[in-house]
Amino acid sequence: MPNDLKQYLKKDAETKALNKEDSFNFHCAKECWGTCCMKENVGLLQLSVYDVYRLLKKRQDLAILDLIERKIEDQTNLPKAYMKWKENGWCPNLEEDGSCSVYEERPFACILFPLSAEFKIDDTSNTISVDYMLRKNLCYGFHKEANPVSQKFKDFLNSNNFDNHEKFEKLEIQKRDEWQKQYDLKSLTNEQLHKLGQTLYCLQDKANNKNSYFMDMYAEDLKIPKRAKRIERFTAEELTTLALEEFAPRLLKQFFTS
Ligand code: SF4
Ligand code: SF4
Repeated sequence: MPNDLKQYLKKDAETKALNKEDSFNFHCAKECWGTCCMKENVGLLQLSVYDVYRLLKKRQDLAILDLIERKIEDQTNLPKAYMKWKENGWCPNLEEDGSCSVYEERPFACILFPLSAEFKIDDTSNTISVDYMLRKNLCYGFHKEANPVSQKFKDFLNSNNFDNHEKFEKLEIQKRDEWQKQYDLKSLTNEQLHKLGQTLYCLQDKANNKNSYFMDMYAEDLKIPKRAKRIERFTAEELTTLALEEFAPRLLKQFFTS
């Protein structure tokens, strides 16, 4: 059972933009492991499409619904995935000793902690930029008892497949923005939203417990050429690209032209 040092968490921590040359003092202390991996301390833990496919590859022992939950975002009316907390409020990847069982595949928000990212769309140049923010004294790792050490922001950024995470976050933001501008998403029915969620997050999942996958089922329905490769061989990068660039756009087009 991890120690719970939640008394050090400051949910209203002041944020400060970081430049690549900046340093900050922090050390994720062993005695605190798990504090930021529990529902009562985190609330909602958002997952990108890329996060989901990385997690699914790693946690083949879990059904998708034990790993993620989908909610419809108020602002966009699009499905969005979140970590599905266990009944005891823990992350499904949190071990008894407070370590993370998917450490190398952990979601972008977990990699970034105690930083956060603010993505911005520039409609004029059609580009997406990102600012990284330090949330000052957010948790125990900043506290003197944790023996914080100086970390260069650019070294922190260079770890853990960072570039891919940033690239796929941007792709997802761009696609969601395009869909919002192109379609009246508020008019989608619950059934349509459910299907859209499946094309975004469940391509690798078995469809209706039959011997076929959602990828095959939707490929046929949406007239997307079938891939010869077995589904297990698709990388998280390939599945994310397919979901965001082919399956979800074609499904939306089908909804709004039929
Ligand atoms: S990131 Fe902070 S809250 Fe999370 S385990 Fe480390 S020190 Fe504790
Ligand atoms: S994925 Fe790992 S780091 Fe992220 S909340 Fe779960 S246990 Fe913690």
